[in-house]
Amino acid sequence: MVNGYIEKVLPEKKTVSLSNGDRITYDALVIATGSKPNKFGWPGQDLKGVQGLYSKQDLEQLEKNAPNKNVCKRAVIVGGGLIGIEMAEMLRSRDIPVTFLVRETSLRNGVLPKGESEMINEHIREHHIDLRLDTNLKEILSDENGKAKAVVTDRGETIVCDVVGLTAGVTPNIDFLKNSASNWAKGSR
Ligand SMILES: Cc1cc2nc3c(=O)[nH]c(=O)nc-3n(C[C@H](O)[C@H](O)[C@H](O)COP(=O)(O)OP(=O)(O)OC[C@H]3O[C@@H](n4cnc5c(N)ncnc54)[C@H](O)[C@@H]3O)c2cc1C
Repeated sequence: MVNGYIEKVLPEKKTVSLSNGDRITYDALVIATGSKPNKFGWPGQDLKGVQGLYSKQDLEQLEKNAPNKNVCKRAVIVGGGLIGIEMAEMLRSRDIPVTFLVRETSLRNGVLPKGESEMINEHIREHHIDLRLDTNLKEILSDENGKAKAVVTDRGETIVCDVVGLTAGVTPNIDFLKNSASNWAKGSR
């Protein structure tokens, strides 16, 4: 086992290059470097009070951003996957009002039959979550201190909030391949 960070893949040489300068040769290379949270270039996506729920650091940030309903009077969560639902549950357990923006017309309807999907919508609403189906984030508005103060949806609505949770899925964590030999990108193995 090698504790190290792969900076480059050199497919012609069947070699990977580590950040400490070491190189390791391979016969077969499996890339299993996980994923990173999606951000789609929304205006305001890097403001204070805007965060994901991916790492331990995100969890610590949530402790700061939303310790109780006095500090966080409303949170808006963007993205109706499992992590979004988990985040909504965590915030509701602190009695923090939550608006949940979901682009699908019904929760998880890409993977669930209609009846089950509608059951989840109902269940979420029973937990006093303000579920907005078929609604996308357009923009996050800043206050004078660079902190999120509201979101604007593609339905033209402005929702005042203190925290914005971005839980719109993940992308393969393969940026390090950009440093790699150019023909890797062209499909060389
Ligand atoms: C908040 C949260 C809750 C989740 N809950 C569940 C759950 O309840 N049940 C469930 O089944 N799944 C859950 N998941 C999903 C699950 O964590 C992932 O599907 C799983 O970890 C993916 O495994 P992986 O091996 O592909 O990637 P990872 O677990 O991310 O592993 C990737 C590894 O690659 C390493 N790496 C990255 N880049 C490099 C590099 N350049 N050089 C060397 N090493 C590198 C990383 O350090 C890491 O060790 C959850 C995910 C999140 C974010």
